[in-house]
Parts: sequence; structure tokens; C-alpha cells
Amino acid sequence: VIRCRAAVAWAPGKPLSVEEVEVAHPKAGEVRIKIVATGICSTDDHVRQGSFPNAEFPVIPGHEGAGIVESVGEGVTSMKPGDKVIPLCIPHCGECSYCLNPEANFCQKSHMCEPQNLLPDKTSRFTCKGKLIHHFLWISTFAEYTVVPEYAVAKIDAAAPLDKVCLFGCAFSTGYGAAINTAKVKPGSTCAIFGLGGVGLSVVIGCKAAGASRIIAVDINKDKFAKAKELGATECINPRDFNKPIQEVLTEMTGQAVDYSFEVIGKAETMIAALASCNMNTGICVMVGELDSGSEISIDPMLLLTGRTWKGTVLGGFKARESIPKLVSSYLEKKFNPEPLITHTLPFAKVNEGFELLRAGK
Ligand code: NAD
Ligand code: ZN
Repeated sequence: VIRCRAAVAWAPGKPLSVEEVEVAHPKAGEVRIKIVATGICSTDDHVRQGSFPNAEFPVIPGHEGAGIVESVGEGVTSMKPGDKVIPLCIPHCGECSYCLNPEANFCQKSHMCEPQNLLPDKTSRFTCKGKLIHHFLWISTFAEYTVVPEYAVAKIDAAAPLDKVCLFGCAFSTGYGAAINTAKVKPGSTCAIFGLGGVGLSVVIGCKAAGASRIIAVDINKDKFAKAKELGATECINPRDFNKPIQEVLTEMTGQAVDYSFEVIGKAETMIAALASCNMNTGICVMVGELDSGSEISIDPMLLLTGRTWKGTVLGGFKARESIPKLVSSYLEKKFNPEPLITHTLPFAKVNEGFELLRAGK
């Protein structure tokens, strides 16, 4: 058993509490990982607030990390102590019908199919002050050590800098893949991205890599525009600068509305605005942002009747176990650079300060 620090969410709505926890030895088919770096994603904030579906408290959140294998359980053959890895918030069991479908990335062992608050044998590897602590998406990266099933871990290039490639565990892969895999953005096309956080900026990188000719970035926080331009946005607009709905503004700017729109905020009204901003014949709108669990959206069905497509994406459609190591290699070959997404680097004990910076739009 390893004793180390972890950030525990004891109850919804409370700040995280950095505690000493016990992390048990990995059982058969599991891997214990020393987490070296982790990003903070809005999804972790949804967990902390209690608005993430099927999460159970107390829990150790975090799902955008990178680390080094410390030990492996019986039968683990694909990695060994010392290997650099990224734990995966979407597992890849390789056996279910979704894993066997080349078009699908959402393994049936994913949290939305079967809650991942405990490891597959329905027990936890974490305890704190004598209490069982739940896992989050099996990976709980806000811990100095975590235990993860082997099929939810990707082994990556030994040269990868872990404090950068942790972003491939969620934000970068989600946004980049939303453009490349889910929307399948075509060269010369027009795109609009609503929301320029870490995920939205990664959509901008993906649209640029796909050869889009116009990339219109939309945010109510003007401070996000410089970085969006640096990463490939051709225009940046603030909905608050107009006295008409943003979908009308985008339609006027482009003549017939955009080819691809992406909602990367997580609000019902911007999801509807993004859908109405893509063209009524062939437009594709991708829902990336997450609404609070239990929320509903109502739309005018005419928005879809004429031909628009409305899609969602989880982890950018990547079959993570095989795709994330390839994305890491492409980054090492300098095919794209997600490093500008990193705005602050904090020591682990300041995790709550990280959430404050996220909420403040910094
Ligand atoms: P973030 O909070 O860093 O960024 C959100 C951005 O939206 C901010 O820049 C904010 O100013 C902007 N915004 C807020 N209201 C707006 C409005 N009305 N109009 C225009 N812009 C507005 O968030 P993030 O970490 O980049 O995550 C974005 C969303 O993606 C979250 O909902 C998160 O939960 C979700 N997410 C989904 C997946 C997935 O697999 N689908 C993965 C990761 C994150
Ligand atoms: Zn599967």
C-alpha cells in the first residue's frame, strides 16, 4: 500500500481537500501509476459541484493526467514499471461491439454505460481516514498514485514530456478530434467555435489542421481572442457586441451560415445557437460542451428537417488506447502544438486555486 496525497471531493459543492490517502496494490489486470502532471477540465468542476451523472462521493476527480507505471497486477502484459502512460477516461476493452466497430470510440465499459465509481471488481483501491473513496472514470488523476484497469491506460513514447502530454488525456484530444473525426472538417470550409477554453482552442487547432479557410471563434471573454488567433482563428467575435442573436451575425458574416459549428461551453442556449449557426442543408453541429445531468434542450424541429446534422462527441471520437499514443508521437514530430493551452502550472496542493483560475476564465 502506498500512502500519498490526493485531492478528495467529500461532498458536492465543497472545495477539494488535499489529504493523505492509501492506494492499494493493483489487482489482476490493473496498473498502479505515479501521476506526474494533471490538467484541470471543466468536467472535474461538474463532478465537484455534483452535476456529473452517476458520480459518487467521496471521490477523487481528475481525468487529464500523465504518469509512470509504478507496478502492475497479475496478467498485465502491455506495460511494465517505468513506462510512460496516459490513463484514459474512455477505456478500450477491445472486446465489446463498440470496440470492434471501427467507427465507434465509446467502449461499453465507459462510465455512461456502467458507472466507473469503483474498479471493475466493484471495489475501490483508495481509502482515506478509514473511509472508502470512489474512483472517477476509473482514473482519478488528482492523486499522486492511482490504480487503473490495463485497458484504460495508453503507453506513450518514452520521450514525451508528461507535464505537456497530460492534455492528451482529455482537452486536446477532445477538441482536436471533434474537428477531425466527428465533424470531419473539409479543406476550404467555414467553421464556428463557441467557447475558447482548453477544449474550444483545441477545436480551433483541429479546424486549422483540417484546412478550414475561415475559423470564427466566439466567446464572451475577449481575453481569449489573442490565443485563438495564435492557434488559427481567422476572426473572433463577442456575442455581447451585437444586439441580435449570434446565429444571425454568423449567417450574415458567411452568407449562408457556417459549414461546421461546435458548442464547447455546455449551455442549452449556446447549443441551440450553434445548431442554428450551421447551414440548413449540409451544416454539421457538434456538441462538445456538457450540460448538467438531467437537463433537457428543446429545439424547433425545422432546424433539422432541412438537413442539418447535430452530433455529439466524447474524447473527440478517438479510440483512445490506439490513437492517443499516435497523437503524442505526432506532437513530438511537431505536427501540431498544444502547449499554448497551458496557461498556469501549479503545485498539487494548490488544486483549488486551479479551479478558481478556471472559473475566472483565466
Ligand atoms: P472552459 O470553462 O475553460 O471554457 C468555456 C469557455 O466558454 C470560456 O472561455 C467562456 O468564456 C466561454 N463562454 C461561456 N459562456 C459563453 C457564451 N454564452 N457564449 C460564448 N462563450 C461563452 O471549459 P473547457 O474546459 O474548455 O470545457 C468546455 C466544455 O467541454 C465543458 O462543458 C466541459 O465539461 C466539456 N467537455 C466535454 C468533453 C467531451 O468529451 N465531450 C471533454 C472535455 C470537456
Ligand atoms: Zn469495449
